[in-house]
Amino acid sequence: MDIYLSAEKFISDNYPGSVVLKDEPLKKHTSFKIGGCVPMLVIPESTQAICGIYKFFKDNGITPLIIGNGTNILAEDCELPFPVIKTHGKAECVRLISETEIEADCGITLAQLAMFAQKNGLTGMEFAHGIPGSLGGAVYMNAGAYGGEMAHIVTKTTALGENGIYEVFGDEHDFSYRHSVFSEKSDIILSSVIKLEKSNKDEILATMDELAAKRRASQPLNMPSAGSTFKRPANGYAAAMIDQCGLKGYTVGGAQVSEKHAGFVVNCGNAAFEDVMDVIRHVRETVKEKFDTYLETEVKIIDRNYRG
Ligand SMILES: Cc1cc2nc3c(=O)[nH]c(=O)nc-3n(C[C@H](O)[C@H](O)[C@H](O)COP(=O)(O)OP(=O)(O)OC[C@H]3O[C@@H](n4cnc5c(N)ncnc54)[C@H](O)[C@@H]3O)c2cc1C
Repeated sequence: MDIYLSAEKFISDNYPGSVVLKDEPLKKHTSFKIGGCVPMLVIPESTQAICGIYKFFKDNGITPLIIGNGTNILAEDCELPFPVIKTHGKAECVRLISETEIEADCGITLAQLAMFAQKNGLTGMEFAHGIPGSLGGAVYMNAGAYGGEMAHIVTKTTALGENGIYEVFGDEHDFSYRHSVFSEKSDIILSSVIKLEKSNKDEILATMDELAAKRRASQPLNMPSAGSTFKRPANGYAAAMIDQCGLKGYTVGGAQVSEKHAGFVVNCGNAAFEDVMDVIRHVRETVKEKFDTYLETEVKIIDRNYRG
């Protein structure tokens, strides 16, 4: 039997609450709105289902791509020969495990999690409220903004690796700028515990509103993108360097260096994967020439050769 027919049967027999989409355009699941068809995209019903479905594919010699909310991904717009497991959509349980600790599934968005913290009078997550990713993606990337980062609040993560489920505590996360212990692995983050502090609910809400206003004022939130395209280099800020090269508004096809924030490449309409790649290459070359600095991409580039 075709592997994807078997997968569909396995999933409906064992995890019937999961969503199975066949020949699904990845662009429907990425904030960039770019990405070709994958043979199957699954939104598992729970973290147990994520494990079971991942193991099913691995046992059949296939490594699926794991995505959270697809907000840091640039996917090639051709037929992509691998299945995708998307954690955001179903695996989103969240609970208080002590007065100041929250445990949540990987698929929950940071916005949902920050609102849960606020409602429980817990401070420390306000920085993350406007980052559009999932908890799993944020731990993987050590997402951060406005002086906060996941490294400051994540105390424990449960993940699935080659040898089964394991736990990572505190420093073992090896967090650094846009990096965690998971960055070099193809393991799946299943859930995390975050430690916050008691505070006033109104003050927490006011901080979140203030940061949201800053974001709206400085970022092109009305256009598809994957956030900051490049990592911050050691000797400055990518956005400032790109701006000083006069590249705001630089356009190839439907892809453009945002006029509002030079660190973002935006999709002005029907940007092709190669349009964005051409913009990235040109920005890199220009910044290298002017500042002798190589800009590394923060955005994860997924092409047809992806093998996990
Ligand atoms: C408008 C906009 C603003 C943004 N602002 C910020 C910001 O201020 N700060 C910031 O840090 N980022 C920002 N981002 C980028 C992005 O939101 C973050 O990197 C976020 O953490 C990605 O989460 P995600 O769930 O969307 O991950 P995805 O894009 O789905 O995946 C990103 C990477 O994480 C991996 N991954 C995802 N989930 C899991 C999992 N459960 N287990 C293992 N690996 C996993 C994927 O395989 C991939 O390699 C922004 C993006 C946009 C579009």
